[in-house]
Amino acid sequence: MINKNKIVVLGAGESGVGAAFLAQQQGYDVFVSDFGTIADHYKQQLVEWNIRFEENQHTEDEILAAVEVIKSPGIPDKAPIIKKIKEKDIAIISEIEFAGRYTNAKIIGITGSNGKTTTTSLTYHILKNAGLNVGLAGNIGKSFAYQVATEKFDLYVLELSSFMLDDMHRFKVDIAILLNITPDHLDRYDYKMENYAASKFRVTQNQTADDYFIFCADDPETIKGMAGSSFAAQQLPFSIEKKIEPGAYLEEDNIVINVYKQHFQMSISDLALQGKHNIYNSMASGIAAKVLELRNPSIRDSMSNFKNIEHRLESVGKISGISFINDSKATNVNSTWYALESMTTDVVLILGGVDKGNDYSMLKDLVKQKVKAIVCLGKDNKRIHDAFEDVVEIIVNTYSAEEAAQVSYHLAKKGDTVLLSPACASFDLFKNYEDRGNQFKQAVREL
Ligand code: ADP
Repeated sequence: MINKNKIVVLGAGESGVGAAFLAQQQGYDVFVSDFGTIADHYKQQLVEWNIRFEENQHTEDEILAAVEVIKSPGIPDKAPIIKKIKEKDIAIISEIEFAGRYTNAKIIGITGSNGKTTTTSLTYHILKNAGLNVGLAGNIGKSFAYQVATEKFDLYVLELSSFMLDDMHRFKVDIAILLNITPDHLDRYDYKMENYAASKFRVTQNQTADDYFIFCADDPETIKGMAGSSFAAQQLPFSIEKKIEPGAYLEEDNIVINVYKQHFQMSISDLALQGKHNIYNSMASGIAAKVLELRNPSIRDSMSNFKNIEHRLESVGKISGISFINDSKATNVNSTWYALESMTTDVVLILGGVDKGNDYSMLKDLVKQKVKAIVCLGKDNKRIHDAFEDVVEIIVNTYSAEEAAQVSYHLAKKGDTVLLSPACASFDLFKNYEDRGNQFKQAVREL
């Protein structure tokens, strides 16, 4: 029997627990179910808030009695419980969709295959420094639902992964940013690029002529995906290859933004975030800031004093004149490409981990130009050897962050850079990319 007042939350991570809190606050009868073990910290919260939950199982009678199911982004549609929920025609929504019903705040939603966290954090930093009453949520920090339940922000900057977008139906993003589309997570999209791309474009669904769609005009998959589709929102593209108005472009070494009557200009050498990929990220954030009519000196200050987040081209320091950089978050080939592209010295590159079917060919030219040695850091490194043996003379296997740091240190000489930018997931040797980055930093400090 369906209970019209009952909401089930599947998955008790940050988003699930936040959604449960908000649902309870709104008067729903809430039940949380996780097929795995729930982290102690979240269990304590559920107990404290008197929310019923189960772990290591899904009790179907409980779940199939819900009027709506809020699904955590990590649960794939193929999971048996999701199939059963669908058979019963019970609506499945994301935490973002649910929380969106209870706030009138303006939403800036940021998605893309790479650069989401960086651009979301930078945009938030610019808005907050300009004095706006702004929240930061999505795939980052405290869940959106929890903040909607406990805060009163006028606007939110949300990092939206494609998994979150998949279960968004009516939620509207006022300013949508689509950074780029390159292959990732294809296992969740029937190995079809067009399905994955369609999921990214959901960030624009429900937009009207009063809204904005900011995207990268240089990104082939974005342009391909846009062809033949119509978009209600006002389009504000950015490019470093050509002059675009309205939108953003690069003129000599300046970012130029023209958004209707608003004009902004800044030298790329003053940007806190260096590298070609960060010019794109800064342009996207800058356009959003100009749409909100923020003052240029304030935007300039924020763009130049922003502190990059951990594990993204993070400088670990110099030892014997060798620079060490932690880019552990580079878990696909495209992000490693941008990391290498931004290098201005010879590089010892630490690559490897869990290979999600990588095509390394796009790295070959840059590796040939800049990389003097590759240090593999993964359980199985055969595909890296196969891909690069004809372009790099030295390819060494290592099996711990400590060993990788030591070997790289010996292979590098004064003036070189040791770059950890693995192009792979980390689960073979580490808990996650943060663990990989932290162990690497620790090992560097102990050299
Ligand atoms: P996401 O949140 O989308 O995973 P991050 O901002 O955490 O992205 O950055 C992940 C990695 O991707 C960074 O280490 C960087 O090397 C690379 N990267 C950042 N921005 C871009 C971009 N606009 N295009 C391509 N690669 C990027």
